[in-house]
Parts: sequence; structure tokens; C-alpha cells
Amino acid sequence: MTLRNPALLRSECYLNGAWVHADTQRTLNVTNPATGDIITTVPACSAAQTRAAIEGTTLAQRNWRKRTAAERAKILQSWYQLILDNQDDLAQIMTAEQGKPLAEARGEIAYAAAFIQWFAEEGKRTYGDVIPSPFPNSRIVVIKEPVGVCAAITPWNFPAAMITRKAAPALAAGCAMLVKPAEQTPLSALALAVLAEQAGIPAGIFSVITGDPVEIGGELTANDKVRKLSFTGSTAVGRLLMQQCAPTLKKLSLELGGNAPFIVFDDADLDAAVTGAIASKYRNSGQTCVCANRFLVQASVYDAFAEKLAQAVTALKVGHGTDPTVTQGPLIDEAALCKVESLIADAIAGGATVIGGGRRHELGGTFYVPTVLTDVAASMRVAKEEIFGPVAPLFKFDTEAEAIQMANDTEFGLAAYLYARDIGRVWRVSEALEYGMVGINSGVISTEVAPFGGQKSSGLGREGSKYGIDEYLEIKYLHMGL
Ligand code: ADP
Repeated sequence: MTLRNPALLRSECYLNGAWVHADTQRTLNVTNPATGDIITTVPACSAAQTRAAIEGTTLAQRNWRKRTAAERAKILQSWYQLILDNQDDLAQIMTAEQGKPLAEARGEIAYAAAFIQWFAEEGKRTYGDVIPSPFPNSRIVVIKEPVGVCAAITPWNFPAAMITRKAAPALAAGCAMLVKPAEQTPLSALALAVLAEQAGIPAGIFSVITGDPVEIGGELTANDKVRKLSFTGSTAVGRLLMQQCAPTLKKLSLELGGNAPFIVFDDADLDAAVTGAIASKYRNSGQTCVCANRFLVQASVYDAFAEKLAQAVTALKVGHGTDPTVTQGPLIDEAALCKVESLIADAIAGGATVIGGGRRHELGGTFYVPTVLTDVAASMRVAKEEIFGPVAPLFKFDTEAEAIQMANDTEFGLAAYLYARDIGRVWRVSEALEYGMVGINSGVISTEVAPFGGQKSSGLGREGSKYGIDEYLEIKYLHMGL
């Protein structure tokens, strides 16, 4: 990796404004999933270091909350600008540790930066209320205040955006944020910290701690100085963290797993549906929580859609993310690859047919050929579990009611997609879907201006948009006697 700004690649944590080396032999290796090479090591911080970081964060936040929103916005704007100025280097670091193609990594950096710009502005608009008082001799005023010290635990699939989506509203609102990035992708988080420091974000307001999730997560959840935890990751870990937060009753934002249906009705523009399917399913090699997980296709267009999708998939190119012609990087690790293989084996055993892919790629490692499966049934594991890989299973339905029933037949409720032209059907189905987000004739839904989040086992809270900052604000009511 040749960076224009080599200072962005760090092997220390950033805690309370200081770059902290591993104080013992406790380190974590950061591996390039495309090559298996170790890029560098980062500290595996202890619970005691986590506690000390929370102490520093607590002190720092007392001053940060007193700054005006406009002052905070100015600093956040400069962080935003520095991220864009370093977009190519940040993308290279991301591709090295995560595997996604450079173009996608560059896109994620722009998306990550956009949250900072958006919330820098939103921070200026945390309006309160004056409520008409029912009493002649008192007045009622509502103000909004920062929640306080916040922690974030973030995943490896979007190593930058999942951090800024939490840190930007927190900082804009006057909170401080201590981030524990995924152990697979700490380098993007540390690079963001380099630029946060350069932007003038005061010591302790944005910190990055790396290490064992159980040890650090244990302290972040148990410590009563942490008033809010924002987590993006699996539903199983989300449940565990919610339990761990119960004794100190922290506020929680949980962005958890999904099992997105992608419904293709007989009146859909099939070519547009295929384009949307490719974008929704194969982006990041299928490793996003809003990736289409189940394609529900109306019987009369099932064969045509399957054929067009299988054809479109052959145009995807698997390889190293650094190759500009590549659209599909490796899966994050061997465990991810094994899961994909076992899901496909289960589907084939149950009678599914592979019409594209269905095997490891010649490049070896964790590269997998984009796959399309037909004749898939609701009893198979692919219908129930988050695939998190480049596999599109196609289910058949006859009626609108059946499509809705199948789409909602899951514990998850993050994103859903539907392709149809009949406006009545579009409304009916959109309203019937038990999901936090619905892509209508659109396979890409993420933007900083819209509320991202799920229902049911997909979590709590919304990120991005004008709603996202509320998660970092407390409402305070002032009853004023005259
Ligand atoms: P994934 O399957 O996508 O890796 P995880 O939920 O395991 O999803 O990981 C998401 C984030 O949660 C990562 O930062 C990971 O280190 C962290 N994590 C995993 N297990 C725990 C845990 N027991 N306590 C705290 N954090 C955890």
C-alpha cells in the first residue's frame, strides 16, 4: 500500500488525545483478507485501559457540551473536509483490511464523511419547545441536552461509515464518543482518529480503543459513566449487549441483522429489477445488513428473472479490491466462506438448483463465485439466516398476499425491496411490510439524509437524517413559576 499520507496508517490506539502503544505483548493482528498477509498489529487494550479511557472521556465531555453548536459544527466541518481530502488513502487502507473494491471503498469514505457534514448542520437545530401552561402562574419550556459519554461498537463490513454515523451525531449534540471498532478493521477507525485530531476535535471527545471485544465490551457496558451504547452487528451480540447494559440502564441504539426480501412482481420492469438486485445483493460481496437475502419472484416472471439475473451475475468480476476492474472482493474470513458453503450445501440437499456460481473461486483464499439458486424453499437455511455472502436464492410466489406473508415470515425487519409498477400494489405492499426501510424500484437505499434502522430483531433506533441526532439528546422539561 502506497499512501500519499503515510501518517494515516497507525498501529496504536487513540485514547484521550494520546496515541497509545500496546503496553504488553497484547496485540491484535490486522490481516488483508485478499492475501492473508498481516498488515500491522494494534494494541489489545485491557478492561483497565478501557476504564481509564472512559474517565478521560467523561472529563472532556464536560467542556465539549458547553461549546456552542456552531463551534462544534466548525470543527466537525474540518474533520469532514480532511476525510474527503484523504479519500484515496483512506480507501486504500479500507480495501487492505476489509477487501472491498477500491471504488466501493472510496464510495464508503464519501458516505462516511457525509454523516459528519450532515450532523454538523443538524447540531445547530436541536430545537426545544414552549408548551402552553395549564397554570396561570407558571411556564413550561422543553430543552434538549447531550446524553453524555457514549460508546460505539462497530462492525467490519463498513469500517468507516458505521463509525461516523454514530460519532457525528454524538459529537454534534455535545456528547463524547469512545469507539471500539471490529477487530478485523481497526485501521480505518484509527485513520479517522488521525484526522479527528488534526481537525481540532479536543482530546477525549473522539477516541478509538482496540482489542478483545468481550473484555472491552464488558467494561463499556458495565461502566455507569457510559450513558449510551450504539452498536451495529449481529443480533446475537446485540441481545447480549442489551442484557449487559440493563444494570446501568443505558440508552441503546442497536442496528442488527437483517433478512431482506426482494420482491419482484409480474408488473415490474425486469431489467430494472435485475440492476437493483445486483446492487442490493452483490455490493460488498453480499456482506451488508441490507443486502437482499431472499428473492421472492412472482411465478409468471420467475424463469425470465432467474435467467436475466444469472446472466448479469456473469459480468461481475472477482478479485483483489486493488484491481480497478474488480467488482467482488474476498469474503472477510474463512468462517464467512464456510457459512456460505454450508448454506448452499443445505439448499442443494433440499432440492435447490445452482444456475450460477456455487463454488469457491480459482483465486483461492476466501474468494467465492457470485451465485444464483433457484427452486429454493422456505424450509431451507437460506430462507431464515442472514447469508452475508454473494448468494441469491430465488423463491416463487403466486399472489400478493403470499408475497407479503413470505416477506414478513422472519424475525428480522431491517430492509425490504419491491419491484412493481402498479401504484396501488406499491402502497399496499409497502405498508404491509414489517420493515424499517423499503426500497421501491430501487436496490440502494442508504443515504445520510434518510433514517436507517430496523424493526423486530433488527434493532432499536434510527441513524442518519433529522431523526438520528435525537438518539444522542435527552429531553429536559423546565417548569418555571412566575
Ligand atoms: P459480525 O458477525 O458481523 O462480526 P459481531 O456482532 O460479531 O458481527 O461483531 C460486531 C462488533 O461486535 C465487532 O466490533 C465485534 O468485535 C463486537 N463484538 C462481538 N462480540 C462481542 C461481545 N461479546 N461483546 C462486545 N462486543 C462484541
